[in-house]
Amino acid sequence: MKLAKRVSSLTPSTTLAITAKAKELKAKGYDVIGLGAGEPDFNTPQHIIDAALKAMNEGHTKYTPSGGLATLKAEIVKKFQHDQQLQYEPSEIIVCVGAKHALYTLFQVLLDEGDEVIIPTPYWVSYPEQVKLAGGVPVYVEGLEENHFKITPDQLKAAITERTKAVIINSPSNPTGMIYTEDELRALGDICLAHDILIVSDEIYEKLVYGDNKHVSIAQLSPQLKAQTIIINGVSKSHSMTGWRIGYAAGNKDIIRAMTDLASHSTSNPTSIAQYAAIAAYSGPQEPVEQMRQAFEERLNIIYEKLIQIPGFTCVKPQGAFYLFPNARQAAMMAGYESVDAFVEALLDEAKVALVPGSGFGAPDNVRLSYATSLDVLEKAIERMKLFMEQKR
Ligand code: PLP
Repeated sequence: MKLAKRVSSLTPSTTLAITAKAKELKAKGYDVIGLGAGEPDFNTPQHIIDAALKAMNEGHTKYTPSGGLATLKAEIVKKFQHDQQLQYEPSEIIVCVGAKHALYTLFQVLLDEGDEVIIPTPYWVSYPEQVKLAGGVPVYVEGLEENHFKITPDQLKAAITERTKAVIINSPSNPTGMIYTEDELRALGDICLAHDILIVSDEIYEKLVYGDNKHVSIAQLSPQLKAQTIIINGVSKSHSMTGWRIGYAAGNKDIIRAMTDLASHSTSNPTSIAQYAAIAAYSGPQEPVEQMRQAFEERLNIIYEKLIQIPGFTCVKPQGAFYLFPNARQAAMMAGYESVDAFVEALLDEAKVALVPGSGFGAPDNVRLSYATSLDVLEKAIERMKLFMEQKR
């Protein structure tokens, strides 16, 4: 059967591909260490699980409104008010099947054939594919490593054409862990306002911020910027709820209404029980969120120091999320590989350590290591990488 043109250029998620290969090796009995994970390794906090069980027992197992339960939207409104002093109406919020689905739905309602979306590199793997699936054209702007992988106002300006519809800002970033400062966001925001470009602000890693760094939403900086921004967020990373699939978008109510109409014909609604769990996530104690953040920060500080000791690896220290994104070009060359992709493959085959090649994120000199795994495992992985380099040189 000939498939639609729409999917012919679709590239499967690199993150999932490497995880699949690591799993395959594990199934064959190899002791593989996977550092590809894109999800917290903690259990969902118990009170959230209990809320879902209660919802089931009380019969909340039916369709809900397409855009999400009113009670959940009310909790999200409160969360924005509490965390970011942002006021949204429930009509400005849609609950989706994860932040990924919120982004997918957004691009579907936003883009006409040929509309351009500016995507800073390194990018989260799904942005370009989602833009293309909606008929849009990804326009890449290189966040240079020397600028901590962040794009500058001049770079943004230079990428704008009359077809530019939106720009994606992902801070803290997957895969780099970098965070845009308030001043940097203001400078980028001014350009978006001047050219009437929608800002898609993916804030899914908002709660995972380390050291003196601070997460600021571009929507907080002025009423004009709030009106120009769609915030994407969710409970996956903050509350360790990746499998529950609850994310949301907040912003212009006409866009949100169109997204809700589209969702009514695609998913009908996010899972009812998961929505009750998300209500508990936001209305219940937030200590587990902070405990997980602290655990990630401790791991980052330990593992970062060890990583940069490995010959050939250099790394800008991440400020948030749970990834390290070192440059491994030198390491690949020292070990006799022409590309970082080949180096990553050899690391998996020979040292049994699974990293994700940066090529999938638009940064072919880098690799992504997730530290969403225990310190013991991380330290073992670093040891294996070190040994691999010693053996190859
Ligand atoms: N945005 C970024 C940058 C991500 O890394 C992820 C998940 O890996 C998502 C969005 C999607 O999260 P969700 O699980 O809510 O779909």
